[in-house]
Amino acid sequence: MIIEKIAESKFNDSVFDSKVFGKNFTDHMLVAKYKDGKWDEPKIMPYGALEFTPAAMAFHYGQAIFEGMKAYKNENDEVFIFRPDRNFERFNLSAERLNMPTVPEEIFMEGIQTIVDLDRQWVPKNYGTSLYIRPTMFATEEAISARSSNEFMFVVLLAYAPAYYDKPLSVKIADFYSRSAQGGVGFAKCAGNYAASFYPTQEAQKDGYDQVIWTDSIEHKYIEEAGTMNVMVRIGDKLLTAPTSERILNGVTRDSLLTLAKDSGMDVEIRPVAVQEMYDAYKDGQLKEVFGCGTAVVVNSYNAVGFAEERAPIEILSDEESFASILKGKLRDIQYGLVEDPYGWRVKVGK
Ligand SMILES: *Cc1c(COP(=O)(O)O)cnc(C)c1O
Repeated sequence: MIIEKIAESKFNDSVFDSKVFGKNFTDHMLVAKYKDGKWDEPKIMPYGALEFTPAAMAFHYGQAIFEGMKAYKNENDEVFIFRPDRNFERFNLSAERLNMPTVPEEIFMEGIQTIVDLDRQWVPKNYGTSLYIRPTMFATEEAISARSSNEFMFVVLLAYAPAYYDKPLSVKIADFYSRSAQGGVGFAKCAGNYAASFYPTQEAQKDGYDQVIWTDSIEHKYIEEAGTMNVMVRIGDKLLTAPTSERILNGVTRDSLLTLAKDSGMDVEIRPVAVQEMYDAYKDGQLKEVFGCGTAVVVNSYNAVGFAEERAPIEILSDEESFASILKGKLRDIQYGLVEDPYGWRVKVGK
């Protein structure tokens, strides 16, 4: 790995006062280029603009994927990344589906270890804050030709992630638009999935909701995801979530919360969850919680669900009563190194 260090670090403590997510990039980025069927030696260099021609194929045909994970610092200034092996696996699943080359472990895992270690002063310590790690890969071949690109770039960016104030949001259940389809790319973290979701989300916002709960594209009868997160529902004291599928992204947060829920004795069911079942539960006063879960926010509770024209308010439970809050607390305590990590989820960076 080639390492070209920044002449003078941009870091100062006021970075950690920022409330903005995804804008405060660290000193360095990692870049690896793929050409002629092989990866070049990756290079860590000062963060900054890269050069592309407007004919770079990612802009035209959308071969672009990404990942998202976080690094945390504990009291002893040790830095840990949360379950990066899962992101590595998923990145290459996305790559395969988009007909892109997979990224070898030496580049992805060692590259991320090296760059996070190099920029470790950018990893904050306060509970709720972290360093966001964004690997991405996109097609760079200069060609206006509707086929798979022969050249790609793999880039890793790091950005300070402030504590996210998870104010409850409202969600509208999709009854027309879909995020993903059977046989499509819903399980892949590809840029186009996001592009396709912005318009329906904006339409939901016009109806007074913050986000969309995506349903199955065939009948719109079963809930699948919420916004850009997986979704969980509590009916009575049962925690329900859909099984992952080719339409549903296999979230690391989802998996971690389910593990914690099962191991703490919660009643968990992984099965299709019908919109009608949620509505009936709402009418019976049993729809206790609906929340999204993902790396950026951990969990985000919903205080209203839109069933067609009917807006169903959901009372936000206290931290002691809410499954979302209880599970979020358990997960964060592991992420911040406040409790043992019996699952081996934390991966130490550097010595
Ligand atoms: C990234 C993502 C998630 C959440 O995955 P995590 O690994 O928990 O961050 C869920 N759904 C979609 C569509 C996503 O892109």
